[in-house]
This record gives sequence, structure tokens and C-alpha cells, in this order.
Amino acid sequence: MRCPYCNSTDSRVTDSRPDTEDAIIRRRRVCNQCGAKFTTVERVQMRDLLIRKNTGKIEQFDRDKLRRSIKLACRNREVSDEQIEKLVTSIHRRLETETTDDSISSSVVGQMVSDSLLNLDPIAFIRFVSVYRKFSKISDFKKIINQIPEMADDDMAQACHLPQTSLF
Ligand SMILES: [Zn+2]
Repeated sequence: MRCPYCNSTDSRVTDSRPDTEDAIIRRRRVCNQCGAKFTTVERVQMRDLLIRKNTGKIEQFDRDKLRRSIKLACRNREVSDEQIEKLVTSIHRRLETETTDDSISSSVVGQMVSDSLLNLDPIAFIRFVSVYRKFSKISDFKKIINQIPEMADDDMAQACHLPQTSLF
């Protein structure tokens, strides 16, 4: 940060105050060259996110679409709307802050979602991964299930979309 008085880049922070309401941080600084005091404001810079599909098509990041696909994976599971919203927000922020490319591959998004779902609910994780990786064989499920440390049989059945109640 350049001193507004002498242009020196040598300054130190004497105080940081977060302003949670505006999501900004104010920093008091002192110039080590001329001793002048000044304040800088740090703010999160939101940017437009572009998602690159496997087909090469580029689309604007759609937060609602992401929420819908997570909700679908969590259907009938003990995952609250609030947890889903937190997950969506966390992935949105990570895409904004952890990626630098002009467009983000949809597989990066898919990986972030599946990593988060694995922590939240293993069934939702399997459902999501099976759709986003376009599973076509039972062996695809087996491979992914083996990644999950422990899984009860009824959970396994649900994951494979088998009904829990009698069919007849
Ligand atoms: Zn200065």
C-alpha cells in the first residue's frame, strides 16, 4: 500500500477493524518513511463467474441451479434448508476466491459440491456424484461407495434409489 503523502510503499498496520455489516475491514496504517497516518478499506471483490461445461459451452454461474441440484441430492435426508444454503454460499465464495481463470470448469464445481456433501451426508454425496459423473454401471457406484469409510446397508439401499418399504 502506497503512502498517499510520500509515495513510499513501506507502511505498517496499527489497527484493524472489521465492519461486519458492510463486510469490509478498515486498517489504520502508519508510513514508515514520513510517519503519516492513513486508513485503507479492504472489501471482498465479487466477480462474475463463468462456468465452462464439458461441451465447451460457457454459462453464467447460476446459484439457484446449484441450490436445486444439491436439494435434489439431499431429498428425504436429514439436511435442513439452512445447511443447504450455507453450503451454496460456501461454494459460491470458494469459486470467487479460489479460482482465477476467466471461466471455471463445471467439473471443479462438481468436485467442490461432492467434497462438501461427503462431509454433510454420504447418501446425498453418492446421489450427487452419480448424476454429475453420469454413472451408468453398478460398478461405478461400488467404486464411489468404497471411498466412504462406513456405510450401513439401509443407507446403501437408499443411495441406489431402492425403496425402503415393500414394493407390493
Ligand atoms: Zn509517507
